[in-house]
Amino acid sequence: MELTASHSIPLSDGNSIPLIGLGTYADPHETPKGTAYESVKIAIETGYRHIDGALIYYNEHEVGQAIRDKITDGTVKREDIFYCGKLWNTFHPPELVRPTLEKTLTTLQLDYVDLYIIGLPMAFKPGDEFYPNDESGKWLYHETDLCATWEVECHPYFTQPKLLEYCRQNGIVIVGYSPLGTSRDPSWVNLKCPPMLEDDLLVSIAKKYNKTTAQVCLRFNVQRGVVVIPKSFSPARIKENFEIFDFSLSDADMKAVEGLNKNIRFVELLMWSDHPEYPFHDDF
Ligand code: NDP
Repeated sequence: MELTASHSIPLSDGNSIPLIGLGTYADPHETPKGTAYESVKIAIETGYRHIDGALIYYNEHEVGQAIRDKITDGTVKREDIFYCGKLWNTFHPPELVRPTLEKTLTTLQLDYVDLYIIGLPMAFKPGDEFYPNDESGKWLYHETDLCATWEVECHPYFTQPKLLEYCRQNGIVIVGYSPLGTSRDPSWVNLKCPPMLEDDLLVSIAKKYNKTTAQVCLRFNVQRGVVVIPKSFSPARIKENFEIFDFSLSDADMKAVEGLNKNIRFVELLMWSDHPEYPFHDDF
């Protein structure tokens, strides 16, 4: 329980990563301008110190402005915040990595990011187009030599026991994206899997602890040392998702939630399954 008491996990380089971060991806066509800005500010006021963002989310400028404004008003210092940025698929060639990171820093107007990851291990044809395809609509892929950096979907329906054990043995911390089962956007989410937050067992456990199913899902992961980055742009839910450090699930309930594993991914990205580096053919 020491991990959850400090709300963070120490890393082997001497830094540490907060156990809960705010996810910031939302469909740019559906999300009013300024929503990411307000949400990140509320999250920092609530106590979040980890923000998960990306250039490809088209709102990184708002996220950076919110972080800077909370530094300016004295709520936090830059070193209190853990920001994770992501290299998009069209920037995989080694000579593009540094300028793309610099573009993220310029967009954020920050001097550094705390973590910079390969968002997806599948390279696309470099160029101005973020989702390149030819006249027939075929995706234009690109061959690159990929370094091993990755993020992992992780929640009660996809508990990743094998990967978790491998990472534990090798001192690697997992950051679990889509910890609430995604926004269920049919354009990219696998909807064969039922809505996780309506699961009967999770609902009954939540009732027992006087918590919500979302809080149980998040607590389940942080209690086993997996960092979570739930996305919410609703002030009430941003707060709700942070209220997971004042209770703990019993061993029996942890086991019961583990038993929900269906080995089904919400984020399958089947449209890119013919990419030679498509990461989800293998177990991990
Ligand atoms: P999540 O599992 O975090 O679910 C987000 C959805 O759940 C939103 O629709 C949100 O709506 C809703 N929600 C949030 N809190 C609650 C709550 N307490 N009760 C009920 N509903 C709730 O999905 P994401 O796929 O967005 O994953 C989180 C983050 O992970 C992303 O935003 C992104 O930062 C990162 N990510 C990275 C990926 C990668 O490939 N590297 C892939 C996918 C995600 P509302 O906003 O209205 O609250």
